Amino acid sequence: MPSIQFRRKGYDALADGPIELGAFKTIQIEDGPRPISAAIHGDNWKQADVETALRKLCAYELQLMGGAPFERYLFILHIGKAAQGAGGGMEHANSTAINVSSGQTLSGVAAHEFFHLWNVKRIRPASLEPIDYTREQYTRALWFAEGVTSTYGNFTLVRSGIWSRQEFYADLAQDINELESRPANRWQSAEQSSLDAWLEKYPYYNGPDFSVSYYTKAKCSACFWTF
Ligand SMILES: [Zn+2]
Repeated sequence: MPSIQFRRKGYDALADGPIELGAFKTIQIEDGPRPISAAIHGDNWKQADVETALRKLCAYELQLMGGAPFERYLFILHIGKAAQGAGGGMEHANSTAINVSSGQTLSGVAAHEFFHLWNVKRIRPASLEPIDYTREQYTRALWFAEGVTSTYGNFTLVRSGIWSRQEFYADLAQDINELESRPANRWQSAEQSSLDAWLEKYPYYNGPDFSVSYYTKAKCSACFWTF
């Protein structure tokens, strides 16, 4: 039985370092001094498409942000059946864990999660520090952490050629329609939506009369004040 040893860097680093065990395929996205790889578990994906998309989006964001803030980076990907109906991703300081229904829907989530390397993991709302695992932590800054990350995720997709300009504008139009269809958009700010995030577990709060998404509101706003 092989043994695995961990060196202690503190509980926050352990909690922020997911571990994947099982039969997965590993592909290399970037070689060199700051390597990037992907461990992929599942079906409904094509290796060439996943490699191309991840290479393009990583290269663009690394160039935009002035280099890699990690020693090595891992995409942990559960695609198709392996996602077990879940969708989305979780950012970590040196990795991300992503669940998507197919390889075709991966690039949007991956561009967002990779940008979190900077915005959230290294540019952090002061209100989220120090981390307290025992209770809710309230912050007015999730709109910047998530919404602006979504804006830059979409900028990455269109600027790296993964999306056409039409796809970029179609996504923006969908978000604007979503906001304008919610009466709460008239009174709930992106800051207030951030602060109220802990209410999302109550179904009524998510209704159009009660809230807007800080992702969507800030993502649309940031499109107009960034370049
Ligand atoms: Zn995010």
